[in-house]
Amino acid sequence: HNDVPLPSIPPFDYSPPPYDGPSADQILAKRKEFLSPSIFHYYRNPLLVVDGKKQYLFDDKGRRYLDAFGGIATVCCGHCHPDVVEAILNQTKRLQHSTVLYLNQAISDFAEALASKLPGNLKVVFFTNSGTEANELAIMMARLYTGCHDIISLRNAYHGNAAGTMGATAQSIWKFNVVQSGIHHALNPDPYRGVFGADGEMYAKDVQDLIDFGTSGQVAAFISEAIQGVGGIVELAPGYLRTVYKSIKKAGGLCIADEVQAGFARTGSFFWGFESQGVVPDIVTVAKGIGNGTPLGAVVTTPEIAEVLTRSSYFNTFGGNPVCTAAGLAVLRVIEKEKLQENALVVGTYLKDRLTAVKDKYELIGDVRGRGLMLGVELVTDRQLKTPAKAETLHVMDQMKELGVLIGKGGYYGNVFRITPPLCFTREDADFLVDAMDYTMSKM
Ligand code: PLP
Repeated sequence: HNDVPLPSIPPFDYSPPPYDGPSADQILAKRKEFLSPSIFHYYRNPLLVVDGKKQYLFDDKGRRYLDAFGGIATVCCGHCHPDVVEAILNQTKRLQHSTVLYLNQAISDFAEALASKLPGNLKVVFFTNSGTEANELAIMMARLYTGCHDIISLRNAYHGNAAGTMGATAQSIWKFNVVQSGIHHALNPDPYRGVFGADGEMYAKDVQDLIDFGTSGQVAAFISEAIQGVGGIVELAPGYLRTVYKSIKKAGGLCIADEVQAGFARTGSFFWGFESQGVVPDIVTVAKGIGNGTPLGAVVTTPEIAEVLTRSSYFNTFGGNPVCTAAGLAVLRVIEKEKLQENALVVGTYLKDRLTAVKDKYELIGDVRGRGLMLGVELVTDRQLKTPAKAETLHVMDQMKELGVLIGKGGYYGNVFRITPPLCFTREDADFLVDAMDYTMSKM
């Protein structure tokens, strides 16, 4: 493979202002001294980012990088999108903070706009600051509504890192010594690594078994992503959610769709990930992309379920603050104005095709998967045994960074590239990303 040419970054008409702040080494020293040791960075030589524009980031030397991770699937319509920046500035100049004790237009307008994107009777919104908070609230509401305690989530899931959500999260690498009463983890309907391959019905039977043999027969809720993000871009086996939702409803439970990563037009064919499985949840949780990276999350549910929150007082000081909700409204408008969902489908399909072609060249690539601009590339040292190629993944990531491409990493074994760029990603960007991966692998 020695004939693969050195790729070059597509042209882009923007240069950031000169940077005259401290060096990367100085900032790293400060970070080591003053930030929690749990904070990790991806690259051997940590990257200092100074500016962002659309799908690009710039370092302290003004060097441009393609942000194929999109923050962490957070920068939905591009870094510093002018419409989002303007909405934030306008709001912050007039009123930076308002609690839910008063009426405020930004909060109500965004709630209405968000509800209008959801099917059925999903129209009552409660704003939070993060995905974790949204899932905590969703789990609590389901328990209150059903009077049951048992929650079923999927092995390999990531739902957050507070008491309840850390229980629902099911990867040891994301768990501390958490008390997780009433949480059951079902077999992951993972077409690549799962025990039943792509047979959605067999995995769904495992959920029925959990209900029958692990609970009283009544459950509070089932929670899942439609495409697992942190878990390594695992698209649930076809037909799975339809059958599981039926089992859960029969057991008196609610179905929670965690759309923190897969929602908001990312998968291209649909606005919401759950639509790909032909189901309508009872509760939907969102965060990440909805505020284009500002701290904003939400739970959306039906009026009947939302009613449980009147039993006591439930309150969130910052949740749905007007600056973030103004950003959220701008994001929704940009998605429509710039046809970003359509772009995610067209460019994502092209990118997946190109990655699949590269897979044919290198034994190292075990699987290419995902939808729209939520794609995964799993690296293995042995295709038959699916042995995770952890060190190789880190090496390719580092080398791609040197070429100007930033890419995410995930999966339980840390051997899956996560490609979740801003939805304004172009065909030329897709070519650059694949050429950089191809070039790097050709040298290994
Ligand atoms: N749910 C999913 C699917 C996620 O990917 C994440 C974060 O990565 C969360 C929930 C938690 O969101 P946050 O980090 O905003 O608390």
